[in-house]
Amino acid sequence: MNLLRKLLHKLDNWRVLSALKKHPLPFSSWQAIRQLSCIRYLSSVEKARLRILSSVLLTQKTFSGQQGFNLTDEMKLIIAAQACVPILKLGLNYYSGFVQVSVYPAAFWVERDERDETGVVHHNKRLLSGESWSRGPVILSWKDIERDIKRDHEGHNVIIHEFAHKIDMLNRGANGIPPIPATSSAKEWQDVFQHAYQHLIGRVEHHHKPCINAYGSTSPTEFFAVVSEYFFTAPQHLNQCYHQVYNELKLFYHQNPAGRIAQTEKHKVTRTRS
Ligand SMILES: [Zn+2]
Repeated sequence: MNLLRKLLHKLDNWRVLSALKKHPLPFSSWQAIRQLSCIRYLSSVEKARLRILSSVLLTQKTFSGQQGFNLTDEMKLIIAAQACVPILKLGLNYYSGFVQVSVYPAAFWVERDERDETGVVHHNKRLLSGESWSRGPVILSWKDIERDIKRDHEGHNVIIHEFAHKIDMLNRGANGIPPIPATSSAKEWQDVFQHAYQHLIGRVEHHHKPCINAYGSTSPTEFFAVVSEYFFTAPQHLNQCYHQVYNELKLFYHQNPAGRIAQTEKHKVTRTRS
Protein backbone atom coordinates (compact mmCIF):
# COMPACT_ATOMS: atom_id res chain seq x y z
CA MET A 1 0.00 0.00 0.00
CA ASN A 2 2.82 2.35 0.95
CA LEU A 3 4.53 1.53 -2.33
CA LEU A 4 1.34 2.33 -4.24
CA ARG A 5 1.05 5.66 -2.43
CA LYS A 6 4.68 6.46 -3.24
CA LEU A 7 4.09 5.62 -6.90
CA LEU A 8 0.96 7.81 -7.04
CA HIS A 9 2.85 10.63 -5.33
CA LYS A 10 5.64 10.31 -7.92
CA LEU A 11 3.06 10.30 -10.71
CA ASP A 12 1.47 13.49 -9.27
CA ASN A 13 4.88 15.16 -9.10
CA TRP A 14 5.57 14.13 -12.69
CA ARG A 15 2.19 15.58 -13.79
CA VAL A 16 2.95 18.86 -12.04
CA LEU A 17 6.45 19.12 -13.50
CA SER A 18 5.16 18.25 -16.95
CA ALA A 19 2.39 20.90 -16.63
CA LEU A 20 4.90 23.54 -15.54
CA LYS A 21 7.23 22.61 -18.40
CA LYS A 22 4.46 22.77 -21.02
CA HIS A 23 2.90 25.95 -19.65
CA PRO A 24 5.54 28.06 -17.94
CA LEU A 25 3.73 30.93 -16.27
CA PRO A 26 5.05 34.30 -17.40
CA PHE A 27 6.59 36.06 -14.41
CA SER A 28 5.08 39.46 -15.32
CA SER A 29 1.53 38.06 -15.41
CA TRP A 30 2.05 36.28 -12.13
CA GLN A 31 3.33 39.47 -10.49
CA ALA A 32 0.08 41.29 -11.44
CA ILE A 33 -2.06 38.45 -10.12
CA ARG A 34 -0.23 38.45 -6.79
CA GLN A 35 -1.76 41.86 -6.05
CA LEU A 36 -5.39 40.66 -6.13
CA SER A 37 -7.09 40.79 -2.72
CA CYS A 38 -7.81 37.05 -2.70
CA ILE A 39 -4.11 36.29 -3.34
CA ARG A 40 -2.17 39.23 -1.85
CA TYR A 41 -2.30 37.98 1.74
CA LEU A 42 -1.31 34.36 1.03
CA SER A 43 2.02 33.26 2.51
CA SER A 44 4.91 32.68 0.07
CA VAL A 45 4.43 28.92 0.41
CA GLU A 46 0.71 29.27 -0.36
CA LYS A 47 1.44 31.52 -3.35
CA ALA A 48 3.90 28.94 -4.68
CA ARG A 49 1.28 26.21 -4.26
CA LEU A 50 -1.33 28.38 -5.99
CA ARG A 51 1.03 28.90 -8.91
CA ILE A 52 1.50 25.15 -9.30
CA LEU A 53 -2.24 24.42 -9.02
CA SER A 54 -3.00 27.14 -11.59
CA SER A 55 -0.46 25.64 -14.02
CA VAL A 56 -2.00 22.18 -13.66
CA LEU A 57 -5.56 23.52 -14.01
CA LEU A 58 -4.54 25.22 -17.26
CA THR A 59 -3.50 21.83 -18.62
CA GLN A 60 -6.55 19.96 -17.30
CA LYS A 61 -9.25 22.30 -18.62
CA THR A 62 -9.98 23.70 -22.08
CA PHE A 63 -10.21 27.48 -21.91
CA SER A 64 -11.89 29.03 -24.94
CA GLY A 65 -13.23 32.42 -26.01
CA GLN A 66 -16.83 32.62 -27.29
CA GLN A 67 -18.40 34.95 -29.88
CA GLY A 68 -14.97 35.49 -31.45
CA PHE A 69 -13.45 36.66 -28.15
CA ASN A 70 -9.65 36.45 -28.20
CA LEU A 71 -8.82 34.79 -24.87
CA THR A 72 -5.10 35.37 -24.28
CA ASP A 73 -2.77 33.22 -22.17
CA GLU A 74 -2.62 36.02 -19.62
CA MET A 75 -6.43 36.05 -19.31
CA LYS A 76 -6.45 32.26 -18.90
CA LEU A 77 -3.92 32.56 -16.10
CA ILE A 78 -5.97 35.28 -14.37
CA ILE A 79 -8.97 32.94 -14.42
CA ALA A 80 -7.05 29.81 -13.39
CA ALA A 81 -5.26 31.51 -10.47
CA GLN A 82 -8.47 32.88 -8.97
CA ALA A 83 -10.31 29.60 -9.60
CA CYS A 84 -7.62 27.80 -7.60
CA VAL A 85 -7.93 30.04 -4.52
CA PRO A 86 -10.92 28.10 -3.04
CA ILE A 87 -9.25 24.72 -3.61
CA LEU A 88 -5.80 25.81 -2.42
CA LYS A 89 -6.00 23.36 0.50
CA LEU A 90 -8.61 20.99 -0.95
CA GLY A 91 -6.86 19.98 -4.18
CA LEU A 92 -7.76 19.91 -7.86
CA ASN A 93 -9.99 16.83 -7.45
CA TYR A 94 -12.70 19.25 -6.37
CA TYR A 95 -12.80 20.42 -10.00
CA SER A 96 -13.03 16.98 -11.58
CA GLY A 97 -16.01 16.09 -13.78
CA PHE A 98 -15.82 18.95 -16.28
CA VAL A 99 -13.27 20.23 -18.78
CA GLN A 100 -14.64 23.33 -20.46
CA VAL A 101 -14.18 26.93 -19.30
CA SER A 102 -15.89 29.24 -21.81
CA VAL A 103 -15.39 32.98 -21.74
CA TYR A 104 -17.70 35.55 -23.36
CA PRO A 105 -16.51 39.12 -23.98
CA ALA A 106 -19.31 40.50 -21.77
CA ALA A 107 -22.49 39.43 -19.98
CA PHE A 108 -24.47 36.97 -22.11
CA TRP A 109 -28.17 36.18 -22.62
CA VAL A 110 -29.60 32.76 -21.83
CA GLU A 111 -33.13 31.62 -22.63
CA ARG A 112 -34.66 28.55 -21.05
CA ASP A 113 -37.79 27.03 -19.55
CA GLU A 114 -37.67 26.93 -15.75
CA ARG A 115 -40.10 25.35 -13.31
CA ASP A 116 -41.08 27.35 -10.20
CA GLU A 117 -41.83 25.90 -6.72
CA THR A 118 -45.48 25.29 -7.68
CA GLY A 119 -44.50 23.29 -10.78
CA VAL A 120 -45.45 25.98 -13.33
CA VAL A 121 -42.98 26.27 -16.23
CA HIS A 122 -41.90 29.78 -17.24
CA HIS A 123 -39.88 30.82 -20.27
CA ASN A 124 -37.12 33.06 -18.91
CA LYS A 125 -34.54 35.21 -20.66
CA ARG A 126 -31.72 36.42 -18.42
CA LEU A 127 -28.48 38.35 -18.79
CA LEU A 128 -25.71 36.50 -16.93
CA SER A 129 -22.14 37.33 -15.93
CA GLY A 130 -21.36 33.68 -15.29
CA GLU A 131 -22.87 30.22 -15.15
CA SER A 132 -21.89 26.73 -13.96
CA TRP A 133 -23.48 23.66 -15.45
CA SER A 134 -23.72 20.40 -13.57
CA ARG A 135 -21.09 18.11 -15.21
CA GLY A 136 -20.82 20.83 -17.87
CA PRO A 137 -18.79 23.95 -18.49
CA VAL A 138 -18.06 26.98 -16.38
CA ILE A 139 -19.07 30.07 -18.38
CA LEU A 140 -17.69 33.52 -17.57
CA SER A 141 -17.96 37.10 -18.85
CA TRP A 142 -14.56 38.76 -19.26
CA LYS A 143 -16.01 42.24 -18.73
CA ASP A 144 -17.27 41.16 -15.32
CA ILE A 145 -13.91 39.59 -14.43
CA GLU A 146 -12.26 42.93 -15.26
CA ARG A 147 -14.87 44.82 -13.22
CA ASP A 148 -14.15 42.56 -10.21
CA ILE A 149 -10.41 43.20 -10.55
CA LYS A 150 -10.99 46.99 -10.59
CA ARG A 151 -13.37 46.84 -7.61
CA ASP A 152 -11.21 44.33 -5.78
CA HIS A 153 -11.93 43.77 -2.09
CA GLU A 154 -15.69 44.37 -2.29
CA GLY A 155 -16.97 40.82 -2.10
CA HIS A 156 -17.61 40.37 -5.82
CA ASN A 157 -15.72 37.76 -7.80
CA VAL A 158 -17.51 35.98 -10.63
CA ILE A 159 -14.72 33.40 -10.99
CA ILE A 160 -14.85 32.32 -7.34
CA HIS A 161 -18.66 32.40 -7.52
CA GLU A 162 -18.91 30.01 -10.47
CA PHE A 163 -16.20 27.65 -9.25
CA ALA A 164 -17.86 27.58 -5.79
CA HIS A 165 -20.95 26.25 -7.61
CA LYS A 166 -18.76 23.44 -8.98
CA ILE A 167 -17.69 22.55 -5.43
CA ASP A 168 -21.31 22.71 -4.24
CA MET A 169 -22.43 20.36 -7.05
CA LEU A 170 -20.09 17.61 -5.83
CA ASN A 171 -22.60 16.77 -3.10
CA ARG A 172 -26.00 15.73 -4.50
CA GLY A 173 -26.23 18.59 -7.00
CA ALA A 174 -26.47 22.32 -6.41
CA ASN A 175 -28.06 22.64 -2.96
CA GLY A 176 -25.72 24.98 -1.07
CA ILE A 177 -24.15 22.07 0.80
CA PRO A 178 -20.70 21.06 -0.48
CA PRO A 179 -19.15 17.71 0.51
CA ILE A 180 -18.67 18.33 4.24
CA PRO A 181 -15.76 16.23 5.56
CA ALA A 182 -16.53 13.58 8.16
CA THR A 183 -14.59 15.58 10.76
CA SER A 184 -17.15 18.43 10.54
CA SER A 185 -20.82 18.44 11.48
CA ALA A 186 -23.18 18.53 8.48
CA LYS A 187 -26.05 19.39 10.84
CA GLU A 188 -24.20 22.39 12.23
CA TRP A 189 -23.40 23.56 8.69
CA GLN A 190 -27.07 23.30 7.68
CA ASP A 191 -28.30 25.11 10.85
CA VAL A 192 -25.79 27.95 10.47
CA PHE A 193 -26.34 28.40 6.74
CA GLN A 194 -30.14 28.10 6.96
CA HIS A 195 -30.28 30.72 9.72
CA ALA A 196 -28.04 33.19 7.85
CA TYR A 197 -29.88 32.57 4.55
CA GLN A 198 -33.27 33.26 6.18
CA HIS A 199 -31.81 36.39 7.80
CA LEU A 200 -30.68 37.66 4.38
CA ILE A 201 -34.11 36.92 2.87
CA GLY A 202 -35.71 38.85 5.74
CA ARG A 203 -33.48 41.89 5.10
CA VAL A 204 -34.28 41.86 1.38
CA GLU A 205 -38.04 41.32 1.85
CA HIS A 206 -38.30 44.14 4.38
CA HIS A 207 -36.29 46.48 2.12
CA HIS A 208 -33.46 46.77 4.66
CA LYS A 209 -29.95 47.15 3.33
CA PRO A 210 -28.48 43.62 3.23
CA CYS A 211 -25.02 43.10 4.69
CA ILE A 212 -23.94 41.07 1.64
CA ASN A 213 -25.04 40.94 -2.01
CA ALA A 214 -28.84 40.45 -2.08
CA TYR A 215 -28.37 37.89 -4.88
CA GLY A 216 -27.44 35.40 -2.15
CA SER A 217 -31.09 35.43 -1.02
CA THR A 218 -32.34 33.86 -4.28
CA SER A 219 -31.51 30.24 -3.28
CA PRO A 220 -29.30 28.25 -0.85
CA THR A 221 -26.91 27.45 -3.72
CA GLU A 222 -26.51 31.16 -4.60
CA PHE A 223 -26.06 31.93 -0.90
CA PHE A 224 -23.12 29.49 -0.72
CA ALA A 225 -21.55 30.95 -3.90
CA VAL A 226 -22.00 34.56 -2.70
CA VAL A 227 -20.59 33.97 0.80
CA SER A 228 -17.65 32.15 -0.80
CA GLU A 229 -16.94 35.29 -2.86
CA TYR A 230 -16.93 37.38 0.34
CA PHE A 231 -14.91 34.78 2.24
CA PHE A 232 -11.99 35.13 -0.19
CA THR A 233 -12.24 38.79 -1.26
CA ALA A 234 -13.81 40.59 1.73
CA PRO A 235 -13.32 38.11 4.59
CA GLN A 236 -13.36 40.62 7.43
CA HIS A 237 -16.70 41.97 6.23
CA LEU A 238 -18.23 38.47 6.08
CA ASN A 239 -16.77 37.66 9.50
CA GLN A 240 -18.58 40.69 10.92
CA CYS A 241 -21.90 40.10 9.12
CA TYR A 242 -22.19 36.34 9.41
CA HIS A 243 -19.56 35.20 11.87
CA GLN A 244 -20.79 31.61 12.13
CA VAL A 245 -20.96 31.24 8.35
CA TYR A 246 -17.39 32.53 8.20
CA ASN A 247 -16.32 29.88 10.73
CA GLU A 248 -18.01 27.06 8.81
CA LEU A 249 -16.30 28.18 5.57
CA LYS A 250 -12.99 28.42 7.43
CA LEU A 251 -13.33 24.76 8.45
CA PHE A 252 -14.49 23.68 5.01
CA TYR A 253 -11.91 25.51 2.88
CA HIS A 254 -9.12 24.99 5.49
CA GLN A 255 -8.27 28.68 5.12
CA ASN A 256 -8.61 31.74 7.32
CA PRO A 257 -8.41 34.79 4.99
CA ALA A 258 -9.49 37.30 7.70
CA GLY A 259 -6.78 35.91 10.01
CA ARG A 260 -4.21 36.29 7.22
CA ILE A 261 -5.09 39.97 6.73
CA ALA A 262 -4.99 40.65 10.49
CA GLN A 263 -1.60 38.93 10.72
CA THR A 264 -0.18 40.95 7.79
CA GLU A 265 -1.48 44.24 9.22
CA LYS A 266 0.02 43.36 12.63
CA HIS A 267 3.44 42.75 11.02
CA LYS A 268 3.19 46.08 9.19
CA VAL A 269 2.55 47.95 12.48
CA THR A 270 5.42 46.11 14.21
CA ARG A 271 7.78 46.97 11.33
CA THR A 272 6.75 50.65 11.36
CA ARG A 273 7.39 50.85 15.10
CA SER A 274 10.73 49.06 15.13
ZN1 LIG B 1 -24.63 31.63 -9.05
